[in-house]
Amino acid sequence: MDALIYPGSFDPITKGHLDIIQRSLKIANFVVIAILKNRAKTFLFSVEERVEMIKSVMKENGFFDYVKVVIFDGLTIKLCEKEGIYTLVRGLRAISDFEHETAMFLMNRYLEPKVETIFLMSSQEYSFISSSIVKEVAYYGGDISSHVPISIASCLEKKYFDKK
Ligand code: ADP
Repeated sequence: MDALIYPGSFDPITKGHLDIIQRSLKIANFVVIAILKNRAKTFLFSVEERVEMIKSVMKENGFFDYVKVVIFDGLTIKLCEKEGIYTLVRGLRAISDFEHETAMFLMNRYLEPKVETIFLMSSQEYSFISSSIVKEVAYYGGDISSHVPISIASCLEKKYFDKK
């Protein structure tokens, strides 16, 4: 397969996301990591910060030449049209993601029948990791080194240290 789009918030990127990117690169030659602006959510990191954080993690892991990081405001199907890529990849954790992901999948296909979504089950060690739980633990000074890349742990520490 040529290329996939991996859309998400990545606020911040975790080892769970990284695992999905690494495994996507076994299926496709190239992955477009798309930071979608979602008006229903508030974020800790700005989109610009998230782009830089993802790029650093890609460099640290040797994936930089195989990915592109983009910011996108609007419907995912519009991004598909813009990139000329109609296959999305999403991660599925435990059972909690299933309902929401099914709704998104069906809506995307309704809006643009050409769009297909590949779901990768989360690896066991990352099944219960989310950006929000990582932020909660980091805020209270807990150890998140197993859950996010080291550079991201520093960004979280800095963000909360600066805020307090
Ligand atoms: P969104 O706001 O679109 O849910 P996220 O950044 O939270 O954005 O997640 C992006 C995608 O990555 C989603 O498909 C989500 O299920 C998946 N994902 C998030 N965390 C993990 C994880 N620990 N393991 C596998 N997939 C994950």
